[in-house]
Amino acid sequence: SIPILFSVFLVAFTFLSFSLLYGNLLRQRRLADIKNEFISNITHELKTPIATVSVAIEAMRSFNASMDPQRSKEYLDISANELQRLSLLVDKVLKLSMFEKKEIELRYELLDMKELVDEVTSSMRLQFEKKGAQVTTHAEGDTHLDGDRLHLVSVIFNLLDNALKYSTDHAEISLTIKGLSNKVQLIIADSGIGIPAEYQGRIFEKFFRVPTGNLHNAKGYGLGLSYVSHVITKHHGTIRVESEEGDGSKFYITLPKHQA
Ligand code: ADP
Repeated sequence: SIPILFSVFLVAFTFLSFSLLYGNLLRQRRLADIKNEFISNITHELKTPIATVSVAIEAMRSFNASMDPQRSKEYLDISANELQRLSLLVDKVLKLSMFEKKEIELRYELLDMKELVDEVTSSMRLQFEKKGAQVTTHAEGDTHLDGDRLHLVSVIFNLLDNALKYSTDHAEISLTIKGLSNKVQLIIADSGIGIPAEYQGRIFEKFFRVPTGNLHNAKGYGLGLSYVSHVITKHHGTIRVESEEGDGSKFYITLPKHQA
C-alpha cells in the first residue's frame, strides 16, 4: 500500500503545483491587462488637454491686441483648467511608475506640512467648488519635517481626491495637522460613504477597490492608496484608517520629523 499512497501523494502534489502555477499566470495576465488599459487610457487623456491649450493659445495669438478682453479671459480660464488636468495626469503617471519600478526615491528637504496642505487645497479649489464641498484646515504646533515635497504633495492630493470622490455633493472635509514632539500627524476626515469594516484592511493593496457596485461609480484604478502608503512607509511613517460605512472616513498619517 506504500506505492499506492506514494502515487496518490504524487498526483495530489502535481495537481496542486499546476493549480498554483495556473493561478499565478492568471493573476499576471490580469495585472498586464490592467496595466495596458491604464497606459492606453492615459495616453489618450494626455492628448486632449494639450490639444485644447494649443488651440486656445493659437486663437489668442491670432486675435492679439484687438481681442475682446472677455474672450481672452475665457481662453485663459480654459488653459488654466486644462493645465490643472495635466497635472492630475502627471500624478497618475507618478503612481504608474511606482508600481513599474516597485521603488521610489525620496529627496528630503525641510518642509512645512501646513504649507503643503495649503498648497494642495488651494490648487483643488475649483474641484471643491464644483461639488460644493466645505474644506477646513486646522494646524497646531510646529509642523515642520524632513520629507519629499513632490511625493508628499501627491499623498495629500490623493487623499483629498478620494475624500471628494467618495462623498456625495456638499461634503465636509477637514484637515488637521499636529506638530507633536518628534512627529507630525495629518488627519484627513470626510463625511462620505465610508468603507465597510471588512474591506478596511485591503484598501491599501494595489488595484483593490471596494466592490460596492452602484454605491460609487467613481473612476479609479485602485492605485492611489497603495501609492500613498508606499510613500508614507518610505518616510518611516504610518497610515491607518477609521471608518464607518455610510458615515465618513478618517485617514491618520504620522511622520517622523527627522530622517536619519
Ligand atoms: P481608487 O480611488 O482609484 O479606486 P484608491 O487606492 O485611492 O483607488 O482607493 C481604494 C479604494 O478605497 C477605493 O476604490 C474606495 O473603494 C476606497 N476608498 C478610498 N478612500 C476612500 C474614502 N475617503 N471614502 C470611502 N472609500 C474610500
